[in-house]
Amino acid sequence: MNREKKILIVGQGLAGTLLSQQLYKRGIEFHFIDNAHQAASTKVAAGLINPITGRRYIKSWLIDELLPEALEQYQAFEKLLGIQIVYQKNILRTLRNPKQINLWDDASTRPGYTSYMEEHPDAENFEKFVADPCRYAEVKNSYRINISLLIEQYQKWLLGKDILSLDTFDFEKLLVNNQVVEYNGVEYASVIFCQGHASLQNPFFGELGFQLAKGQVLTLKFDDFTSQKILRDDIFFASDHKGQFWCGGGYYWAFEDDKPTKEWRAEWEEKIKAITKLPYTIVEHKAAIRPCVLDRKPLLGRHTTHENLVLFNGLGTKGTSLGPYFAKHLIEHLFDGKNLMSEVDWRRYIKP
Ligand SMILES: Cc1cc2nc3c(=O)[nH]c(=O)nc-3n(C[C@H](O)[C@H](O)[C@H](O)COP(=O)(O)OP(=O)(O)OC[C@H]3O[C@@H](n4cnc5c(N)ncnc54)[C@H](O)[C@@H]3O)c2cc1C
Repeated sequence: MNREKKILIVGQGLAGTLLSQQLYKRGIEFHFIDNAHQAASTKVAAGLINPITGRRYIKSWLIDELLPEALEQYQAFEKLLGIQIVYQKNILRTLRNPKQINLWDDASTRPGYTSYMEEHPDAENFEKFVADPCRYAEVKNSYRINISLLIEQYQKWLLGKDILSLDTFDFEKLLVNNQVVEYNGVEYASVIFCQGHASLQNPFFGELGFQLAKGQVLTLKFDDFTSQKILRDDIFFASDHKGQFWCGGGYYWAFEDDKPTKEWRAEWEEKIKAITKLPYTIVEHKAAIRPCVLDRKPLLGRHTTHENLVLFNGLGTKGTSLGPYFAKHLIEHLFDGKNLMSEVDWRRYIKP
């Protein structure tokens, strides 16, 4: 890759932000274009790193490698920007029936699981929160990263250095040849697209592999309840440093837009009231579209004919943990010639 010219990064959500830090560390110049985080999934996410997921309590793919890389990179951003974004918060899981108890007990004896699973946790004051008594277990070594604050503060940092244009990338203004790419009359070594779900409108990479999922979230404030830990019952109640709770999720594969809906809010409030009888107020209701992929693995790599067009996307439901590791992996591929892991190479979706 041509090191004389800058790299243009399209999209300053979590993916673009993490990728740029890998370039920065290597002294490679870059410029961002981002349409002011319009519809950025990163602004809505809880930012959880949850090593044990799902109803069968399975260890997240590659978590032993992803976690240390993520902590190192997010802590570096804390230093750079002078903010706190990393919060170590264990996740209490309610076990409500013999099936859940058996599945938990089976999982917790598997090799490599003990550092993430606690059988007899301190339930803090959740016994007062959860209406129906139940057993609790705990996912250890889990984190909440304030990725929304990260991209907001990093945006300011970039603007201060004049390396971010708040604008919509216009494909009509892009000229591509083998050595350089030209955008809006300026030559770049390459363009790396980190557009989240908007990647579907990208004429070079398009829809390959994507299976987008809309999610929504309520920010809740309880009159007389705060906690350090996160609760995962039927749904998540993820505490923050302000005493509020991120409560959301849901996967909608068919949707008209990325706007919050009354129907989802009513459905979610029923779920909340089935878990807790404590009174609360809704501070905010937001929605966004996750850049999910059919096989739940990221989409990375160069375009097949235009080598200087690159994709970094598909962070799906786990961008907070996958993003740092795979940003580094992509940069090592582009600059050190390391092979891309076949599981994340976007070309796996090209039909032969
Ligand atoms: C409800 C919900 C809960 C979630 N919870 C979690 C969680 O707990 N843990 C977790 O790990 N992940 C979670 N996620 C997923 C997480 O949000 C994503 O994995 C991650 O944020 C994706 O980052 P991204 O940079 O790829 O995309 P985005 O954040 O969407 O960023 C893309 C950026 O590109 C810009 N852009 C796009 N096209 C253009 C263009 N043509 N011109 C200029 N700019 C452009 C957009 O404005 C945006 O700023 C959640 C998502 C949702 C919706």
